[in-house]
Amino acid sequence: MGRAVVVVGAGYAGIAAANRIAAGSDAQVTVVGPREVFVERIRLHRLAAGSGEATVPLRTVLHPRVQHRSGLATLIGAGPGNDSPGNDSPGNDTVLLDDGSTVRFDRLVYAVGSGDPDPDPGADGYRVDSLEDARRLHAAVAALPAGGTVAVVGGGLTGVETATELAAARPDLAVRLVTDAEVAGGLPARSRDRVRARLRALGVGLREHTRVTGTADPGADVVVWATPPAVPDLARRSGLPTDDAGRLRVDATLTALGDPRIVGAGDAISAPPEVGFVRASCQAAIPLGNAAARTVLAGLAGRAAPAASVVYGAQCLALGPGAGLVQLVDTHDVPRRIAIGGRAGAAIKEQVVRHTLRAIRSRAA
Ligand SMILES: Cc1cc2nc3c(=O)[nH]c(=O)nc-3n(C[C@H](O)[C@H](O)[C@H](O)COP(=O)(O)OP(=O)(O)OC[C@H]3O[C@@H](n4cnc5c(N)ncnc54)[C@H](O)[C@@H]3O)c2cc1C
Repeated sequence: MGRAVVVVGAGYAGIAAANRIAAGSDAQVTVVGPREVFVERIRLHRLAAGSGEATVPLRTVLHPRVQHRSGLATLIGAGPGNDSPGNDSPGNDTVLLDDGSTVRFDRLVYAVGSGDPDPDPGADGYRVDSLEDARRLHAAVAALPAGGTVAVVGGGLTGVETATELAAARPDLAVRLVTDAEVAGGLPARSRDRVRARLRALGVGLREHTRVTGTADPGADVVVWATPPAVPDLARRSGLPTDDAGRLRVDATLTALGDPRIVGAGDAISAPPEVGFVRASCQAAIPLGNAAARTVLAGLAGRAAPAASVVYGAQCLALGPGAGLVQLVDTHDVPRRIAIGGRAGAAIKEQVVRHTLRAIRSRAA
């Protein structure tokens, strides 16, 4: 009987890791996640605006030997200060789920992403980080009468994608984008100007260098917080090593510091510089998921694990239907001089999104 590998988190990094481990070993691989669908997070702004879907059945992206346990992991191992041998409920080699059941592991991949996995439906304002967030935002925007106002707070790529998609889908609303710095601040000046021009063309009011401190501040019917999401606190709660933000601290092979059974991938890890800059993105999450799988496979086979590395090619931005911006970057994610905008940019972005799903599915069959 193969050993048990548990992957916590059925997102881009977790599925990439689970499929590769199942394809490369006889381990029993179990993915723990709360939904029966795979969420294409990079399409959630479209779901929020009512202009597209963002889910596919989970089974269609899983390798046939990967099992799915439905639920949220609430504790990994026995928790802080409880490492007494013989304690098996929960034990040092189990994951506790929110229904009180446990799953045993020999190796565990920590891939819980970013955002609140169980968002509060009564929360102040809206977000677009998870399926539940995006559905809640969609319902709020759909209920707005003509002339209603929406303020998107945060001028990063998610804020720009959300504001442009909402403005294109509901031209009868007044959509504003408010940011405490420059819009699309990570892009070069020429690309930022292209983003501003597109926002103007869609009638999105742009307020730069404006700090928003609370949901009442922007004076809008619906306020969308597109600020960087926090990571789940599961690692911290479980007594695993984390950085100040709660990301699991891993070494260059993505192995958790001090626990060789646990390997991390995706938005929820803090990796050393030799792995490269980890942007919260699919572009990093999928290769990190693959690298986590290589580390698990090496561990199961008693071999030394290889070091992981992340390299980049572009930052792709949707700007509402028929418009996009593809900013080429060097391998360290530093923008180069070339960017492709307009319809060509939109077409490339759509191909990248489709390719991302294909990459996840490539080991499913
Ligand atoms: C609107 C939007 C647009 C984006 N556009 C882009 C883009 O164009 N390009 C790009 O590269 N990136 C983009 N991103 C960022 C990208 O989606 C994330 O960086 C990526 O999803 C990270 O992958 P991951 O596997 O680490 O996490 P996720 O894809 O978030 O998956 C983590 C999974 O773990 C689950 N989970 C969390 N806690 C638990 C738990 N305790 N137990 C079990 N399961 C748990 C979550 O529910 C989730 O399903 C976008 C994000 C958003 C919100």
